[in-house]
Amino acid sequence: MRGAATLKDLDHYLRAIWLECCGHMSRFSIGGWKGAEIAKSENVEGVFKPGITLTHIYDFGTSSETLIRYVKAREGKPTTPHPIALMARNVQPQAICIECKRPAVWLCMECVIEDEMWGFLCQEHVKSHPHEEYGAPIRIVNSPRLGMCGYEGPADPPY
Ligand SMILES: [Zn+2]
Ligand SMILES: [Zn+2]
Ligand SMILES: [Zn+2]
Repeated sequence: MRGAATLKDLDHYLRAIWLECCGHMSRFSIGGWKGAEIAKSENVEGVFKPGITLTHIYDFGTSSETLIRYVKAREGKPTTPHPIALMARNVQPQAICIECKRPAVWLCMECVIEDEMWGFLCQEHVKSHPHEEYGAPIRIVNSPRLGMCGYEGPADPPY
């Protein structure tokens, strides 16, 4: 991130790549729920010092918590005109179909909510899955918010 960028920029980015479902509130703090809130208008260079870990909480009901760790600062020209440049991201965890154990691409929300299980389904078994109470199964995306609240992705970087 640029030093002059704000926590609001970071909040936007986290929502786009991982979190946004229904426009819930979010907050930054040091030390999780108990820690004092840090205003989103704060600059990155003012907040992040060596050893600092911020907690970002999205949605105060079905909350998603993201830890943001300062790794290192670099001086020089930004590599992008945007506030944030993505250097790496996680490899999407492999989901396995509950019927045949082959790679899954769909998730049944009725399985998640009513049966409290990860109802992952492949292209084939999604057709015969009996649940429809919570609408059609959703496409599996690379986000830790998958299966929470109304989250449906797309879990792509915003720029
Ligand atoms: Zn939501
Ligand atoms: Zn299957
Ligand atoms: Zn199901």
